[in-house]
Amino acid sequence: MRNIEHFIGGQSVVGTSGHYGEVFDPNKGQVQARVSLASASELDRAVANAAEAQKGWAQANPQRRARVMFEFKRLLEAHMDELAHLLSSEHGKVIADSKGDLQRGLEVIEFACGIPHLLKGEYTQGAGPGIDVYSARQALGVVAGITPFNFPAMIPMWMFGPAIACGNAFILKPSERDPSVSVRLAELMIEAGLPPGVLNVVHGDKDTVEAILKHPTIKAVSFVGSSDIAQSVYSLGAQHGKRVQAMGGAKNHGIVLADADLDQTVADLVGAAYGSAGERCMALPVVVPVGKETAEALREKLVAAVKDLRIGVSTDPQAHFGPLINAAHRAKVETYLQIGVDEGAELVLDGRGFSLPGHEQGFFLGPSLFDHVTAEMKTYREEIFGPVLQIVRADTFEEALELPSKHQYGNGVAIFTRNGDAAREFADRVEVGMVGINVPIPVPVAYHSFGGWKRSGFGDLNQYGMDGVRFYTRTKTVTQRWPKGGPVSDQSFVIPTMR
Ligand code: NAD
Repeated sequence: MRNIEHFIGGQSVVGTSGHYGEVFDPNKGQVQARVSLASASELDRAVANAAEAQKGWAQANPQRRARVMFEFKRLLEAHMDELAHLLSSEHGKVIADSKGDLQRGLEVIEFACGIPHLLKGEYTQGAGPGIDVYSARQALGVVAGITPFNFPAMIPMWMFGPAIACGNAFILKPSERDPSVSVRLAELMIEAGLPPGVLNVVHGDKDTVEAILKHPTIKAVSFVGSSDIAQSVYSLGAQHGKRVQAMGGAKNHGIVLADADLDQTVADLVGAAYGSAGERCMALPVVVPVGKETAEALREKLVAAVKDLRIGVSTDPQAHFGPLINAAHRAKVETYLQIGVDEGAELVLDGRGFSLPGHEQGFFLGPSLFDHVTAEMKTYREEIFGPVLQIVRADTFEEALELPSKHQYGNGVAIFTRNGDAAREFADRVEVGMVGINVPIPVPVAYHSFGGWKRSGFGDLNQYGMDGVRFYTRTKTVTQRWPKGGPVSDQSFVIPTMR
């Protein structure tokens, strides 16, 4: 059995804890490797290594750090096929989608290539007599990132790209369910010229996460995962004096007004609901048609489109989506389907019992569609994270606006309409962090920032963009005076002012 080991100080380091996690091939439903899970003492070693490497890295001028990012971007492009296959083999998403996962991470690396410009501070000449003031952004030191299984390339790059470009050393704790891509990315960073120790991959589970959150040398922790864990990571990290950003789960709504282009909307909804088997925090698992006529027309078109979906292995170029991450997650999604039926929703299409010939043991699940779901139902209130789309009918625009606004999650939302007034009002009033107008998956580009509201995000700085630079640096403000000589000014016991 293949072992997946830690990557510390620029090399593979064999785990010594004696604890391992199983990594599956979701297409076959079999264990394909085991991953070492770090103990607190193994984490200590990685942090010590990172702390040592960080001193020199922070001193390297920003152009030098940018050059490493440029070269890493080139290597990512050159290794795109290899990385996409590795990612799909552990996650199960189709190859084209894995390339999208890598591409969206690569775009954050491109953003980080501009770090000399992004780190420029502020300067005021003559703030007082002979007094100038400047502020600079300095790296924090050793920082850490804890990532979920569903974007095993993009989310690590959201974090280590800006963090390392800013001059920090980084400890990445990827999901133990698909950890190999992170190791490969770290190897490519070394090949790109990153000094060993600046980027380390330490595998682990909740014990490793807890050790990271309590570690005195680690200054900041970025987390992406489910909401309950995000909230506890946020609290524990803060208790230990760290800067923390913790992104959580989601339940994104697609609002469909009567004047929407229905064919385009259906194509967008089906891709956004079922792509990657619904295992995306920006998926659209809820659709809200406004008005009975819209609902009936939409349902008819949705049923036809969902019946046409092709489920296949990750390497099948015709497949729209592949298997789920593991059997336990599939069972959880199936439980939600049953709960939906029990609480009175209409299960129009039932994906349970789907089996892919030749891959009967794979973690596949067919697409499901519910109608007549209501806001009180558990299956509506909670995140399912599978290939399930729920129709929640609304009579009015106000009712449709209220649904995502009152939901516990507030990650993304989309509205489909040709009415600019309605779209603008919706975008203005909806209580959700990222809004799409005729755009089903409004993940912001790399030079804006990604973050949800309510239980989708804890902490006040988003991922990447300028918020990423702010998160991984702290501001130092220097007030300086260079007197020309002359008499000593009077001693003053009054707080200095610049009158
Ligand atoms: P998860 O919360 O199970 O795991 C995330 C990370 O936390 C992993 O590295 C895991 O090892 C670690 N972890 C697991 N249990 C822990 C515990 N008890 N204490 C501390 N750490 C623990 O999430 P997942 O299943 O890997 O990913 C799916 C979830 O992530 C979904 O809820 C999805 O919506 C969310 N997600 C959110 C965003 C976002 O930006 N808001 C992006 C992607 C995924």
